[in-house]
Amino acid sequence: MADHHNGLSFLESVDHMVDRALLSMDLAPDVAEAIKACNAVIQVKFPVKIRGKVQIFSGWRAVHSTHRLPAKGGIRYAPCVDQNEVEALAALMTYKCAIVDVPFGGSKGGLMIDPRQYERDEMQLITRRFTLELVRKGFLNPATNVPAPDMGTGQREMAWMADTYKHLNPEDINYTACVTGKPVEHGGIHGRTEATGRGLQYALQEFFRHPDEVKATGMAPGLAGKQVVVQGFGNVGYHAAKFLQEEDDCRIIGIIDRHGMLHNAAGIDVETAYRHRVQRRSFEGFEGGEYTENGAKGLESECDILIPAALEGQISADNAARIQASLIIEAANGPVTFEADQILNKRGVVIIPDAYANAGGVIVSYFEWIRNLSHIRFGRMQRRFDEVRGHHQIEALESLTGKVLPQTLKDKIDAGASELDLVRSGLDDSMREAFQGILEVRNSNEKITDLRTAAYVTAIRKIARSYLDVGIY
Ligand code: NAD
Repeated sequence: MADHHNGLSFLESVDHMVDRALLSMDLAPDVAEAIKACNAVIQVKFPVKIRGKVQIFSGWRAVHSTHRLPAKGGIRYAPCVDQNEVEALAALMTYKCAIVDVPFGGSKGGLMIDPRQYERDEMQLITRRFTLELVRKGFLNPATNVPAPDMGTGQREMAWMADTYKHLNPEDINYTACVTGKPVEHGGIHGRTEATGRGLQYALQEFFRHPDEVKATGMAPGLAGKQVVVQGFGNVGYHAAKFLQEEDDCRIIGIIDRHGMLHNAAGIDVETAYRHRVQRRSFEGFEGGEYTENGAKGLESECDILIPAALEGQISADNAARIQASLIIEAANGPVTFEADQILNKRGVVIIPDAYANAGGVIVSYFEWIRNLSHIRFGRMQRRFDEVRGHHQIEALESLTGKVLPQTLKDKIDAGASELDLVRSGLDDSMREAFQGILEVRNSNEKITDLRTAAYVTAIRKIARSYLDVGIY
C-alpha cells in the first residue's frame, strides 16, 4: 500500500527503520541482511462456491524468520491485503517477539476479503478452505507456524482453523496449539481477547513510571486525566480505551472509526459508545459526543496521547507536522511511516513503537500455546492450595496478634490466582521488563535517541546472538 507511505511501501518503511537501528550497531552486514530477509512466502488461490457461484480467493502467509520455532503471527482478513503488507507484518512479528522475549519466529498471513460481505456459514467455508491450503503447504502447524487473530479475524475464525487442522491431523496430540486466540471453550486462554489492549495499558503505565520519559513529552506526571484520542475501535482500540478510562482515569476525548470521529472534550463513556456502535454499526445518533465525518482530521486533534489502533500508514509525511499529541503509542502495526517517524522525532513527539506497544497479543498467545502443549489450565493445580495456605497465614496472624484482620485484606491474602490473574501478571511483567530493556539500550548508546530505534536494536541484538551462537545454517 505504497500510497499511504508517500512512495515507500509498508515493507520498505519497516526496513528503513531497521536500517536506521543498524547504523547504531556494530553488526556484520551479511548477518544484518540475513536477519532482514523474509524466509518464505506463499500465495494461495482457491475456489469456494458461494451462493451458487464459484469465487476465487487469494491469501498469503509469510514466514520472516525461523531462528525460533514456531513462527508466529496473525491472519488478517481485509479487502486490500497484499504480499508486501504480509511480509512487512511478518518482519514486525520477528522483532516484536524478540523485544518481549517470546521464543518465536515471525510470520503473518492475510486473506483478500471483505468479511462484511459474507454470512457466517460462508465465512466458515472460506476459512476452512484457506486453512486446508495453509496446512497442506506446511504453513500451519503447532510446531512450526502458529497463526492468531488480526484485523477482521477473531476467536470464531481461530476455532474453525483449529478444527480443520484437527480433522487433517487427528493423531497430533497437540492440535489445539496450531492456532492461538481460540475461544476458551476450545482451548483458548482467559485474557487473550483483551490482551493487546491490556498490554498497551501496561506499556503506558510503565512509561509513566519513568519521570524522565514523561518529562520529555512535556506532559505532567501521571496517567490520570490525560486526554486520549483513539483511532480504530475494534478489538485493540476498544479494549485499550476501556481499560485506560476505567482503571487509569484517562479522559477519552476522541474515537475515530472508518466512517468518522466521535468527539467530546469532557470525555466519552467508552462502554456506552461501544454498545451503541455494536447496535447501530455507527456512532451516528450517539448522544455522548459530537460526530463528524472527517475521521482522518481527528488524528490531528489536540490531545495528550494519540493511539492509532486501526491500520498501517495513517500518520505519514502528509499529516505528521499537524499531529498535536505529545505522545503516540502505536497500537496498530506500522501506523506511522518512516518519513512521518523522522518528522515527529524532530518535533519532539515521543513514540512508543508498535513492535513493543502491541506485543500483548503475542505474549498471551505464547501463554495459550504453552497451555495447549501442557494440556492444563494455568493455576489448576495450585489455586486451591494457595487459598488454604493463605487461610492458614490469616489464622496464624490473628492468633499471634490477637486482632481480627479486615475482611478486604483477608480476601486478598487467601485468594488463589485464577488463570486470568496469572495471564495479566505475566503480561504486565513482560511489558515492564521489555520497556526497561529498551530504555537500557537507548541510555547506553548516545547514537540512539528514540524508543523505536532502541526497540529495534534490542531485537536485532537478540536475533543476531541466536544466529551467531548456533551459526547460520
Ligand atoms: P479489528 O478488525 O478488530 O478493528 C479494526 C478497527 O479499525 C475497526 O474498528 C475499524 O472500523 C477501524 N478502521 C478500519 N479502517 C479504518 C480507517 N481507515 N480509519 C479509522 N478506523 C478504521 O482489528 P484489531 O484486531 O483491533 O487490529 C487493529 C490493529 O492492531 C491492526 O493494525 C492489527 O495488526 C494490530 N494488532 C492487533 C492485534 C490483535 O491481537 N488483534 C495484536 C497486535 C496488533
